[in-house]
Formats: sequence, structure tokens, C-alpha cells
Amino acid sequence: MELQSILLPGIEAKRPLVIAGPCSAESEEQVMETARRLKAQGVKIFRGGIWKPRTKPGGFEGVGEVGLPWLRRVQKELGLYTAVEVANAKHVQQALEGGVDILWIGARTTANPFSVQEIADVLRGSDIPVWVKNPVNPDPDLWMGAIERLYNAGLRRLGAIHRGFSSFDKKIYRNLPHWHIPIELHRRIPQLPLLCDPSHIGGKRELIAPLCQQAMDLNFDGLIVEAHCRPEKAWSDAEQQLSPEALGLILDTIVIREVTQSTESLSALRRQIDELDNKLLEVLAQRMRVSVEIGTYKKEHNMPVLQTARYDEILQNRIAEAAQLGMSEDFMKTLLVAIHEESVRKQMQVMEE
Ligand code: PEP
Ligand code: MN
Repeated sequence: MELQSILLPGIEAKRPLVIAGPCSAESEEQVMETARRLKAQGVKIFRGGIWKPRTKPGGFEGVGEVGLPWLRRVQKELGLYTAVEVANAKHVQQALEGGVDILWIGARTTANPFSVQEIADVLRGSDIPVWVKNPVNPDPDLWMGAIERLYNAGLRRLGAIHRGFSSFDKKIYRNLPHWHIPIELHRRIPQLPLLCDPSHIGGKRELIAPLCQQAMDLNFDGLIVEAHCRPEKAWSDAEQQLSPEALGLILDTIVIREVTQSTESLSALRRQIDELDNKLLEVLAQRMRVSVEIGTYKKEHNMPVLQTARYDEILQNRIAEAAQLGMSEDFMKTLLVAIHEESVRKQMQVMEE
């Protein structure tokens, strides 16, 4: 992918790039007051939802196009750029006619290739910056697919927003971060800028600051955060919105760690990791060789490959030992299941010989 910069004139290429504003544009006064107070905190790009996809009917579905002139005032009177969510061809046309600077595609829309294609088709020929949120389900291919549809329609100023993934089991987060998924997207398209949306991941005000810090530590390019002049009175997502001043405080206190530092001690540590990985590979190969021997034995004695009781015992013992060594049970289980799969594959080969 050959992308062009998603940054607009006057926006510095410095981490974090910040987009902030209310979940929904509610009234002209709310938009203007929030934007004025965000500007005072150094924010240069204002977000405001005009069309709101709600999971259930009955929630506030956005003011619609009557809100677009309010965003015009934000541009003209305050000199901020504006960003809105679009979910269909009509939204795109109205947003472009309304002079919106930046578009984003919401999580529910990214999950639907028909909608993304419809949006891509009306955007053909435009070079407006478009940010693509991850789909609600943890599927990097679906996320990439949406980005590719826009790219194939000729759009080059593209970026991605990580807003977490929905799950039935809501504990701490509203949407589970699954950080490895945006990291995987970054591995596949390294030049694609990546924002984190801590508001929709966290779902609660108090989680926003730690999530912002985590995103910066994972080298995200920026943040898109919900901020409202009276957060607790917001018509949508009230629990997760911050006042502009609270957001300002977070932006002042997060630590941006230097990325390109490659000190002597870091390379020494990396050499250690390389050596350990080599040892790990050698041990794994050795384990596979023993496993093949077991396969031969089983074949000669007419025993089945899979011995469930033995497998269960291995899983339980190793997981308990790993926990004592400070590794998570999930991690150990994933690792052992993968090793066991490869072992079984090798023993099956022996059986078929
Ligand atoms: C939003 O940004 O307000 C929104 C609806 O987000 P998402 O698409 O991530 O749910
Ligand atoms: Mn919201």
C-alpha cells in the first residue's frame, strides 16, 4: 500500500495526534462550548457524531444533518478541523457537502463489507482523510478488508482506529482491547497510522488515562477521545466522556517514551533473547523427536495416538507450574495445545507410514 499522510496542514507529525469531542453533537451550544474548551487544551481536531449507530433502538440516534452547520462554525470561528462518522452513502454526501474535514467509519459499519463498499464507491475521486475503526468482532482480515476497499477506490489518506472488541462477558472493559490485533494490523501495514479510542474500549471515565498511556507505550500514533462540556449530562455514552479539562490533564501527564532509542544495553538484551529463542527451538525439536519415537512405539503396540488422560495430566501439571513461574494460565494453555497439535500431527505421520 502506498499511502499519503493523513495529517492536515498545521497538524504536527508528533505523538500523540489527538482528535477529541463529544460522542454526539447535541446542540449548537454544546458543540461550540465543548470545542472552545478543547481548543484551550491544545486540541486541533474536533470530533462529533452526527449520525449515531446505536446497538438498540430507543437510544439517541444523532441530530443528523442539521448538526453540520455547527461543525462549520467550529472550523470558521475556532480554526479547528472537524471529523464525523459516516455509515452510508447519504452520510458521506452530506458530510462532504457540509465541508467536514475528516471522516471515520464506525465499528459496526466496518463489520459489514456491503456498507464499506458503498462508502468507498461514493468516496471515489475524493482525497479526504478516512479513519477506519476496527470491526466489532476481533478479525484483522475484516479490518484490513475495509481499508483495502477504500484503498481500491483511490483513497490514500487512510488510518486505523483501535476501539476494542465486543464480548458477551463484560468485566473491566466495555470492549476488550485484544492489543495483539492492532499490533498485527501494524505488522501487516506498517505505514498505516494507528489511533487508539480509549473511550469505547474503557467505557468508563476512570479507565481513559491508563488506556491512553498503554496506547502510547505500544507506540500508537495518537488518540481519539470523547470529551463533552457536561459529560454526565451527555445524551450518549455519558459514563465514558471526559470534560475538556480532564482530557487536558491526561494529555499533560501521559509519558511519551522515545521510540528510536537503540542503546548498547538494549542490543545486549536482544542478543540474549535471540539466544534463548534458539534454545527454545532446539528443545522443541528435541521434544518432537521423542514424540516420533513414542509414535513408533504406539504403532508397534497397536495403541491409539491420542491418550486423553495423559494429555490432561500434562496440561494440568504444566499450567500449574507455569503459574508458579509467573506466566498466565491462558498463555501456557495456548502454548501446550499448539505443541500437542504438532506432536499429534507427527505421530499420525508415523502411523500412516
Ligand atoms: C463513536 O465513536 O461514538 C462510536 C459510535 O464508536 P464505535 O463505532 O467505536 O462504537
Ligand atoms: Mn460514543
